[in-house]
Amino acid sequence: MIYDTIIIGAGPAGLAAALYAARAELKTLLIDKQGPGGQAATTHLVENYPGVQSITGPDLASNMFAQVMELGVELVVEEIQNISLDGKIKEIVTDGGEYKGKTVIIATGVEPRKLGVAGEMTFRGRGVSYCATCDGAFYKGKKVAVIGGGDSAVEEGNFLTRFVDKLYIIHRRSELRATKVIQKRAFDNPKIEFILNSVVKEIKGDKKVEEILIENVETGEKTNLKVDGVFIYVGNNPNTEFLKGQINVDELGYIITNEDMETNVPGVYAAGDVRVKSLRQIVTAAADGAIAAVKAEKYIETFK
Ligand code: NAP
Repeated sequence: MIYDTIIIGAGPAGLAAALYAARAELKTLLIDKQGPGGQAATTHLVENYPGVQSITGPDLASNMFAQVMELGVELVVEEIQNISLDGKIKEIVTDGGEYKGKTVIIATGVEPRKLGVAGEMTFRGRGVSYCATCDGAFYKGKKVAVIGGGDSAVEEGNFLTRFVDKLYIIHRRSELRATKVIQKRAFDNPKIEFILNSVVKEIKGDKKVEEILIENVETGEKTNLKVDGVFIYVGNNPNTEFLKGQINVDELGYIITNEDMETNVPGVYAAGDVRVKSLRQIVTAAADGAIAAVKAEKYIETFK
């Protein structure tokens, strides 16, 4: 069987693409190695999706997923092992099967970037986390550090104060990158203390995280800070390695598209955080997905 479109990645971009593809009556397959939701499903609260005042990330993702499932989209939870995109029919081999499609929409998103300091991998899952929504509740009454100054660090830091007694946000510069409204909430939060102009040099402990070594980048002063957990939010890397050079990407690995989500390979589109763009949000991911699916539909028409 040949699908009209195979969408790789079932986060907001992939789910929106699936919604538009299914409504255009394209035979649609969604492939995701972890199941639906993507990064959105690990976000505690979404307050900037138009028309929805406030919703948890998992709820929004699950609503999006339910909507496409009702339209008959197929989902397989499998990991891609091989992909061939240059032919007229695209071929994908996963750990569960082999699939063919006339078009492919890549919506594989990003994954959290590692800090790259001693102790990070040793204590991963034993005090080091990249997901406050997943692990926050383990830190009731404890002290934790959040590393980073972007939207994720500050917003997830705010969320963690539901559980923790004390939270440090450690950022390498004197100014945060996060949106002002998110920053203000953190500045007003009595449980949050900012440690600015500072970087983490090492995460230490015995069986689990006990303290971190911080260096002030202006003075060079080093201090040990006692914490029970470290949440790392220092940005993301695109999930494009599986493409093995078959598509044009930028120097960081993000897929280059035009505004119609077309890549340099005919019939192959990219949508959402995985592509080069200036604003990575759920709403822009969903918009990309919609455009990609409509363009895929048009491409299939010429294909006939
Ligand atoms: P980000 O915006 O790239 O921020 C990463 C933060 O980590 C920056 O403050 C950066 O410092 C810092 N950093 C990077 N490498 C570091 C290192 N090696 N050591 C120490 N600090 C390091 O990433 P993000 O916060 O995950 O956000 C990703 C995207 O999702 C953004 O477009 C963001 O707007 C969006 N997002 C939006 C929302 C929302 O709208 N509610 C929520 C979450 C995420 P510098 O500032 O010095 O570069």
